[in-house]
Amino acid sequence: MLITNNKTDKCQAPTIIMNNTELEIVRSQKHLGVVLSDDLKWSKHVDHIQSKANKTIGMLKAASHNMPRQCLEKAYTTVIRPTVEYASPLWDGLSVQDTDRLESIQYHAGRVITGAMKYTPKTNVNAELQLDSLATRRKASSLQIMHRMVNDNVPEHLQTLKPRLRREVHSTGTRNTTNKTLDQPKVRLQCAQNSFIPRTVSLWNRLPPSLQNTESLASFKSQYKKQYLIVPNKFHQKVRSSGTKSLNIKHARLRMNWCGLNSTLSKIGITDSKNCDTCHKSETTSHYLLHCTKYHHMRQTLLNEINTIKPSLKVNTELLLHGSVDLDLPSNYRLMNAVQQYIHETGRFQYRSNPTNT
Ligand SMILES: [Zn+2]
Repeated sequence: MLITNNKTDKCQAPTIIMNNTELEIVRSQKHLGVVLSDDLKWSKHVDHIQSKANKTIGMLKAASHNMPRQCLEKAYTTVIRPTVEYASPLWDGLSVQDTDRLESIQYHAGRVITGAMKYTPKTNVNAELQLDSLATRRKASSLQIMHRMVNDNVPEHLQTLKPRLRREVHSTGTRNTTNKTLDQPKVRLQCAQNSFIPRTVSLWNRLPPSLQNTESLASFKSQYKKQYLIVPNKFHQKVRSSGTKSLNIKHARLRMNWCGLNSTLSKIGITDSKNCDTCHKSETTSHYLLHCTKYHHMRQTLLNEINTIKPSLKVNTELLLHGSVDLDLPSNYRLMNAVQQYIHETGRFQYRSNPTNT
C-alpha cells in the first residue's frame, strides 16, 4: 500500500519483490483489526465494522423473541458495542456519512432490543435505552487517552507524541489558557486535522479547567461522565424490562412516542388522519391511556389496580409510562403490569392490523 498525497506518485509505485514474488499494490490493508486505506480515510474501516456488527445484530434479532430485554441490552453493550468501538481514538474524525453509518448500527440494535417501529427517531430509541450516541462515546475515549498523555501515564512510545503545553510554547497565555491547556499543532491537510492529536487537543482545550486539572484517571472519567454522558438509571432499566415480551414492546413504543396510534401512523402515511376513530380528537399516547372513551371500562380496572398499589398516586401519562421513584421496585412492576394489561385488553395494537411493526 502506498500512502501519498500526490496522484502521479501512485502510478510510479516502486516494484517490491520478496521471495521472487512481486508484491501486489493494494488500496487498503487490515492491521491489528483496523483497516488502513491509502487515502488516509476511514470509510473502508467503517465498512468492515458495519458488516461485522450487522451479522451479530442479525443473530441477536433471531434470538430476541425468546430473550428478555435486559439480556438483549447486556449482549449489545458487552459484545456488539465494544467491537464497533475497537481502537476508536485512532480512527475517530470520520466524515458525516461514516459517523451516520456507525450510529445506524446502534439504532439497528436499539430497535431489536426495544422492538421500536420503523422510523422511530434515533434520539427516542437512545433515550429509551439510556445510551449515549457512539460519537459522544468516542470523544470520551479519545479524551481519556489525552488525559493519560498529559499526566505521563502512557507507554514510552506514546509519550513522545505528547503535545506540548501552551505555556511552554507561548510566554503569554490567552484569556482562556489554563495550566493544562495544550498547544494546538498547526496542520494543513484535512486528514491530518482529523487525526488523533490535533482533533483531541482541540477537544481537550475546550474542557473546563477543573477537568483538565484532575490528576487521577478514575476521577477524570467519573467527573466527565457526570458532566457529559448519560448515567444509566438501573431502577428505570429494571422497570422498563418488566412484563411479557410482546406487551413490554407495546409499552416501550408508547414511551418512545412512536407507536401504532393514529398520531404516529398519520406521520408515516399509514392513516389519513391523526384523530381517534371514536372521539375524533388527536390519538396521542395520553389520549389513548387517559381519555379515549372507547376504553373507559378497561381504564377503570387499571385505575382500581393503581389505587390498591398506592391510593395517593397521581395518575398521569408520565406515571403510566415510566413508573414512579416514590414506589419500590415490586410496586413498580405491579404498576407496569397493570398498564400492560390495559394495553392487552384494549386490543389497540394488533400485529395483523398494523403494517409498521416489522
Ligand atoms: Zn378516542
